[in-house]
Amino acid sequence: MERKLGNKIPRVPVREQDPAQRARNFEEVCLGYDLSEARREASRCLDCPKPACVAACPVSIAIPEFIRALAEGDVATAASVIARDSSLPAICGRVCPQEIQCEGSCVLGRKGEPVAIGKLERFVADTSRRESISCAGRRPLNGDRVAVVGSGPAGLACATDLAKTGYDVTIFESLHEPGGVLTYGIPEFRLPKETVVAPAIEDLKQLGVKIETNVVIGRTLTLQDLMGQEGFQAVFLGSGAGLPKFMGIPGENRNGVVSANEFLTRNNLMKAYRQDADTPIYVGRRVTVVGGGNVAMDAARTALRLGADVTVVYRRTEQELPARKEEVHHAKEEGIHFELLTNPVEVLGDERGWVRALRCQRMTLGEPDESGRRRPVAVPDDFCEIPADVVIMSLGTSPNPLIASSTEGLEVNRWGCLVADEDGATTVPGVFAGGDAVTGAATVILAMGAGRKAAAAIDAYLKGLKS
Ligand code: FAD
Ligand code: SF4
Repeated sequence: MERKLGNKIPRVPVREQDPAQRARNFEEVCLGYDLSEARREASRCLDCPKPACVAACPVSIAIPEFIRALAEGDVATAASVIARDSSLPAICGRVCPQEIQCEGSCVLGRKGEPVAIGKLERFVADTSRRESISCAGRRPLNGDRVAVVGSGPAGLACATDLAKTGYDVTIFESLHEPGGVLTYGIPEFRLPKETVVAPAIEDLKQLGVKIETNVVIGRTLTLQDLMGQEGFQAVFLGSGAGLPKFMGIPGENRNGVVSANEFLTRNNLMKAYRQDADTPIYVGRRVTVVGGGNVAMDAARTALRLGADVTVVYRRTEQELPARKEEVHHAKEEGIHFELLTNPVEVLGDERGWVRALRCQRMTLGEPDESGRRRPVAVPDDFCEIPADVVIMSLGTSPNPLIASSTEGLEVNRWGCLVADEDGATTVPGVFAGGDAVTGAATVILAMGAGRKAAAAIDAYLKGLKS
């Protein structure tokens, strides 16, 4: 196949479920490339000598190298190139914000469309899984034991690297299923659980990692227990940022107001969308979602699939929506309404204490704030009411204080995030941390990168103790 075609051929479109059909099911929206589509798209890459895409990837995947192998039809080599820097390619290929990372920097994007790097990564990962191409391998056990707290991308990545290096690793997870946000937060229609998340966890078990679910560190066992009676030489904290924030407006405690976290957990972890599920979920006829991030889009699109008419309320304009562009585009295609420059001021209820509407104030944009985005400013005396049976609050999350409050000397900053240095070392010797627990709510790839960095630091720390 001819190569380095750049913008001489258009970006190969990826197949997706039809919007009207997918708005009523939980199956994956994006159907991905087949081999000939993937090779054709790969043939666009210019194999730049100084690839801007690699510089923009948080874990520096050798993007042109894997794409070159793929263009030649060599999926096994492409998979092994990716595996050098990423342990979760099928997941990152699906949920990473490529448009502001690798693809956002691809030179082809200057005069046309960037290479579809994320879709190619996903194709390589899915194909190598289907064809049982394995990139795993581990050294013999070295006798040291490491505990990993939390089984989200940070914990999974840290455990993978430690196990490959020869450590005896046990993950402690408070929920009954491993995977963190990948399992309980991001919905099936974006990240299938059985075909994508479960195999990634199975790979970890194949490396010898043990996973103990239903163990809450800070309650069932403390950090001191892990490093004392349980006999672990080091601990990695990848406990995420799962504590939802609320607005503090009048009426927020009415029946029918829920956090996006609770709503999504009921649906994704507890499978409330299935007829046979024990866990109930209530959506009513009209749902209003407050917020504009990925979590808000996931909650809105889930409510839509459960049969509701859904409106997203966001206080800035579409340009400032923090959600991935692809998710906003998909949400609109599926029929989600957006009330922009609109800020809730009160949840209105009926005589039985249930939500009946959201009272909002119209906003305009003022000067930029510390985040660089223009600040929303209230328009005086301009209010509206949005009828709703359910209001889903999706305003961000922060780390749960349980572990820090039960561990002497473990420092947190003013946002409740664990204090850790560049390599993940916390203020307690032998205890490392990474992912959302340190940065606050961020991304899968950053959490995965932090987990891998901490694994290297734990290895150096434990070797240092022996020298
Ligand atoms: P988590 O994934 O939160 O995992 C932490 C784990 O630790 C959890 O399983 C938790 O149960 C466990 N835990 C917590 N406390 C304890 C304890 N005391 N004892 C034992 N276990 C404990 N990012 C993207 O890049 N792209 C997206 O499209 C995207 N969409 C998202 C959609 C939703 C709905 C959400 C909520 C987040 C989304 N994110 C997305 C963000 C991304 O998922 C997170 O940044 C990432 O999962 C953080 O990984 P983590 O390992 O640090 O934490
Ligand atoms: Fe290929 Fe774009 Fe990366 Fe250049 S910047 S190597 S064209 S993906």
